[in-house]
Amino acid sequence: MKQNGISLNTLHRNGKGSDQNVTEANGYDLELIEQIGDEHVGSSYDTPLREDAFDMNDADKVKKIEYHFRQIMETMGLDLTDDSLSGTPHRVAKMYVKEIFSGLDPKNMPNIKLFENKYQYNEMLVEKDISFYSNCEHHFVPIIGKAHVAYISSGKVIGLSKINRVVQYFAKRPQVQERLNVQIAEKLKEVLETEDIAVVIDAKHLCVSMRGVEDISSSTVTAHYSGKFKNEQTRNEFLNYIG
Ligand SMILES: [Zn+2]
Repeated sequence: MKQNGISLNTLHRNGKGSDQNVTEANGYDLELIEQIGDEHVGSSYDTPLREDAFDMNDADKVKKIEYHFRQIMETMGLDLTDDSLSGTPHRVAKMYVKEIFSGLDPKNMPNIKLFENKYQYNEMLVEKDISFYSNCEHHFVPIIGKAHVAYISSGKVIGLSKINRVVQYFAKRPQVQERLNVQIAEKLKEVLETEDIAVVIDAKHLCVSMRGVEDISSSTVTAHYSGKFKNEQTRNEFLNYIG
């Protein structure tokens, strides 16, 4: 099966103003992603989750992660009897489950209501500079970025804060930027009942800046255009808005 309407463009910014098209971003071979997308719909752009992902309740997950994080800290030689460190395993576990990875659980999906707005029928609505924090699933260190979203109203509109909430929801998962981009776009298509969606993400990956090549100026840009945004003029109008 083939996932229709999925197109992703990735640009790697080197921080000096010149952009360069790449087929590999953050160790991800986009040609391979395309291949996987062609052959395994449902798993390719979905976060890889086990079937029993939500069998355990949040309180038990916190307890289990706390236990294992304590093991990690002790293995590194840290003295967990120190007042400053003793509460860390519990704090980290709670933060994982309740905050920074809370977007794994469908029960935390924002509840979105649409309302009719005939005035904005067929008009482009843009929300830019939606800031988000995510985490790279290959290193578990932050991805910090901004999402720019546009849609062409089918007569129904969404509260702008809800677009933020959709972005935050998918950001609060271990992620790769390309997948985050598609997940936001696909969710908005579903709730807005339109194919006319554009999502551009510009993000810094701390796994590139604080380790590895230690490049502090680069950022990665991904884009997903569907429906009317595949039209160059419409796309350019959007790109002008987001500057
Ligand atoms: Zn990484």
